[in-house]
Amino acid sequence: MKKIQMVDLKGQYTQIKKEVNDSIQEVLETTTFVNGPKVHEFQKNLENYLGVKHVIPCANGTDALQIAMMGLGLKPGDEVITADFTFAATVEVIALLNLTPVLVDVNPDDFNIDIEAVKRAITPKTKAIVPVHLFGQCANMDAIMEIAKQNNLFVIEDNAQAIGAKYTNSKGEKHMSGTIGHVASTSFFPSKNLGCYGDGGAIFTNDDDLAHTLRGIVNHGMYKRYHHDVVGVNSRLDSIQAAVLDAKLPHLDTYNNKRKEAAAKYDKAFKDNQHIIIPKRSGDHVFHQYTLKIIDADRDALVQHLNDKGIPCGVYYPIPLHKQKAYMDSRYNEADFKVTNQLVKEVISLPMHTELEDDQIEFITKTVIEFIDN
Ligand SMILES: *Cc1c(COP(=O)(O)O)cnc(C)c1O
Repeated sequence: MKKIQMVDLKGQYTQIKKEVNDSIQEVLETTTFVNGPKVHEFQKNLENYLGVKHVIPCANGTDALQIAMMGLGLKPGDEVITADFTFAATVEVIALLNLTPVLVDVNPDDFNIDIEAVKRAITPKTKAIVPVHLFGQCANMDAIMEIAKQNNLFVIEDNAQAIGAKYTNSKGEKHMSGTIGHVASTSFFPSKNLGCYGDGGAIFTNDDDLAHTLRGIVNHGMYKRYHHDVVGVNSRLDSIQAAVLDAKLPHLDTYNNKRKEAAAKYDKAFKDNQHIIIPKRSGDHVFHQYTLKIIDADRDALVQHLNDKGIPCGVYYPIPLHKQKAYMDSRYNEADFKVTNQLVKEVISLPMHTELEDDQIEFITKTVIEFIDN
């Protein structure tokens, strides 16, 4: 059996080595390292794949969120509602822009933002909602868009973990995740479902005016060379990263299917164990993470045991954001975070990537079950 890894980037690269190397070589030959033709090519290909009017590439997923919020013209003091159970980047940029983060609880089964909690958190100062499509499946976008419409709010989808997932709305129509809200952000960090070989990110929108604003903000607020109309940032995607992404994009659906297949094998092994809750599917799930809940058993001891057996695993996330020093706020009430406070004790994410082999999955599931049943 090959050594088990949380994410196997080397194994994946080996399979597409020629495509990636050729694509990078093109950039080297043209020496257009920033905003070269490769960036534009990738942008167009991603717009086609997603069925969205505008993709604005940028330097990373955190910048993408920040720039989206800048582009919407949010002002200091505006309240932005997001999930308490996510990666810190989401709340970080809200705070960085002097907006007021309002963290709310999540669902106990699919870990996505709790719609009733969103409704309760709305005040006259609320300007936006940031649903995070956690671990690879979409938040309840029908409900979120309806709340946004009623309260005149922007919706910014944090799509860093769910690129390629399809959302089916109440009318039965399918949309790619990240194309439903007013604007969305994604990350091309190497371990994400579509990852480059460094940092990268992008913003998506169907709004022509917003897209124009965003294209300026990513490049020092310039719409005409050396004319700075708005305060911007320097957040561009390198051409070499675009070359990697352009070579990998045609494989994204295959990659997501491989993740789904691995998840189905995990499910089958775990589904009858009373101490293990397998991930709920609220819709299409592209498994950025495969995350179990461990009930009435020692999750931390399981983590230790797996590590001892050479099986990497992760606890995403070990501390709710409202308990992080940087984001504590006296307005929060512990009773409003029942779910996240519980999830941090129960969740465990198992190795999940495109190169998992059957003997590895068998070894992982056997090791988990043996420990839980003992
Ligand atoms: C990875 C991630 C980000 C940040 O992306 P970077 O490219 O690392 O800046 C933001 N939000 C979520 C939910 C993420 O998983």
